[in-house]
Amino acid sequence: MQGIVYKSTGSWYTIKTEDGKVFESRIKGKFRIQGIKSTNPVAVGDVVDFELETRGDETIGIINNIHDRRNYIIRKSVNLSKRTHIIAANIDQVFLMVTLNNPPTFTTFIDRFLVTAEAYGIKTVLLFNKVDTYNEDELLEIKYLAAIYREIGYECIGISAHTGKNVDKVKESMKGKVNMFAGHSGVGKSTLINAIEPQLDLRTAEISEQHRQGQHTTTFAEMFELDFGARIIDTPGIKGFGIVDIDKDELGDYFPEFFAIKDQCKFNNCLHTDEPKCAVKEALENDEIAWSRYKSYLQILEGEEENYRTDIYGE
Ligand code: GDP
Ligand code: ZN
Repeated sequence: MQGIVYKSTGSWYTIKTEDGKVFESRIKGKFRIQGIKSTNPVAVGDVVDFELETRGDETIGIINNIHDRRNYIIRKSVNLSKRTHIIAANIDQVFLMVTLNNPPTFTTFIDRFLVTAEAYGIKTVLLFNKVDTYNEDELLEIKYLAAIYREIGYECIGISAHTGKNVDKVKESMKGKVNMFAGHSGVGKSTLINAIEPQLDLRTAEISEQHRQGQHTTTFAEMFELDFGARIIDTPGIKGFGIVDIDKDELGDYFPEFFAIKDQCKFNNCLHTDEPKCAVKEALENDEIAWSRYKSYLQILEGEEENYRTDIYGE
């Protein structure tokens, strides 16, 4: 049988089959998973093969194979073992929620996030929330920002989780996909999810409290199915999307507008900084590349500390 992992406790996995049957499952004893070394061999979002085993009057699933992952996001474990924890796999898209103020979201933060999502191979949609609170100047700023990101291929939607404006567009985009939500604390992720599906009681608050007290709890992602045919992965306790190690000479590849023209740079290992005949810098001078994007690129290249942490839904 085949199914998708919706929930994991570390020893038990909840699997749902395509026809909606749910099985509590374990991993086959001698079964070893190939590939990356992680503290959890099976993650939420994994497609698995399993067989049924009856114990007394109880039937459980025994997982004996994991299908190749299209992508996955990880967290390095906090203890000394430095082993990787796979948070979730096979994610179709992540919505990065952005607000101009309360709290402010800076372009450097957005760009870092996008780089990581590109490296993970996950599509990002930008949601500019709280449009009901902006004055004319701020609305112009949003338009300007959205134009920058649309131009380089990212879908952008201006929304108000509060009034419901364009929430239907978000739902439309979520349909048939496995979705995640990210963005600073306070941008309106819970409000939006509540507007989308009020019954869904995600675990944000409780977990972030524990974090503030500095406790390290092992938290697991969980996948939920929504009535309108979308799935959502909730990831409590996850602070960062920004833990991908990217080589300097590879960084530009995760800026789609740089990547598109890098063949025109004189040097094929061009870092787009001080090299002569650099197509990226020429495009920058001609206003074909946004200065804010280039600034973010330099900041990441120089390894500057991130001022604002990435916050996947659930904090
Ligand atoms: P989260 O930390 O990202 O989950 O943010 P919350 O959903 O808890 O929202 C933080 C605050 O912003 C709450 O007081 C919400 O009522 C408010 N909020 C969220 N979305 C909107 C919006 O579209 N417009 C307005 N005016 N307030 C919003
Ligand atoms: Zn260059």
